[in-house]
Amino acid sequence: MTDVIIVGGGPAGMTAALYALRNGKSVLVLEKHGFGGQITYSPKVENWPGTAQMSGNEYADALLDQIMAQGAEVDLAEVIRIEDRGGAKAVYTDDGQVREARAVVIATGVKHRMLGLPGEQELVGEGISFCAVCDGDFYTGKTVCMAGGGNSALQEAILLAGKCEKVIMLQDLDDFTGEKKLQEILFARSNVEKRTGVKITALNTENGELRSVSIEDKSGRAEAVACDGLFVAIGLIPENEAFRPLADLNAWGYFDSDEKCETRTPGVFVAGDCRSKAVRQLTTAAGDGAVAALAACRYIDSL
Ligand SMILES: Cc1cc2nc3c(=O)[nH]c(=O)nc-3n(C[C@H](O)[C@H](O)[C@H](O)COP(=O)(O)OP(=O)(O)OC[C@H]3O[C@@H](n4cnc5c(N)ncnc54)[C@H](O)[C@@H]3O)c2cc1C
Repeated sequence: MTDVIIVGGGPAGMTAALYALRNGKSVLVLEKHGFGGQITYSPKVENWPGTAQMSGNEYADALLDQIMAQGAEVDLAEVIRIEDRGGAKAVYTDDGQVREARAVVIATGVKHRMLGLPGEQELVGEGISFCAVCDGDFYTGKTVCMAGGGNSALQEAILLAGKCEKVIMLQDLDDFTGEKKLQEILFARSNVEKRTGVKITALNTENGELRSVSIEDKSGRAEAVACDGLFVAIGLIPENEAFRPLADLNAWGYFDSDEKCETRTPGVFVAGDCRSKAVRQLTTAAGDGAVAALAACRYIDSL
């Protein structure tokens, strides 16, 4: 039996692997798509403490190399169910296998809701961004559009308005749904323009670079809005439903756990963007990974 099985090979999961390995535990990391998680979409990361600049892929590759050098086992498979058998947890994957572990760390991250437009996926990190804290600096002095009208969109736009020449808010509803106070702060800025009741219908590129977005209002009137970048803040999608029998989820589908990373099931821990938290970044994901892994090690040692 493996000591710790980690569900998800993103920054949180791989950091958890590192800490469990250094605690002398055997570790298996199961990842459904590709090791590295969301950060692999980012060509430039400039806020990882101690490293001036790296690509998301460089970060992910280095972390994967590091855990494998320390003895981690890794496999590509989607975890579809976990069964609590007391001192052992049975981990079921989509390839039909069942593996057993003494403890489990779930680090399944989130997916950003996308607009569903042709060419969108290819532009992620190259004109389309989900994170002003991460990518705002790349648009200093430039014009950006922001898709969305909730609190996240407003907060991200406030940050962008302090750097960009112009921020154009594109909201498909008739009004912004985020807090009034945030709206007051944002729309008091002279470089912020708001457009409501408009739908983004196309992403227009030249030589692979985003040049404008096409929008359409309710009467069907179409227009192209020139911009250097498009930030999308129309929601995050946690993928935690399969684990509800073991861990409570909040109203938005995140694991309802605090910085102790515990769940209501002894031996099952959660880490990273998949849990309820205020800041979703590499630093916080790595911090959770360390906390969850050390809690899992303490749990195993107490068995
Ligand atoms: C475009 C972009 C740019 C960003 N730039 C920055 C930046 O510059 N700086 C910064 O600090 N942060 C940045 N972030 C945020 C950062 O990437 C995330 O906060 C971080 O990746 C969260 O790590 P995580 O391990 O919790 O989740 P994720 O990175 O989401 O990893 C979760 C992993 O779990 C896997 N998984 C999910 N469900 C299952 C399952 N059932 N079975 C097996 N595997 C599963 C997923 O495939 C994924 O690989 C950026 C995010 C994006 C999208």
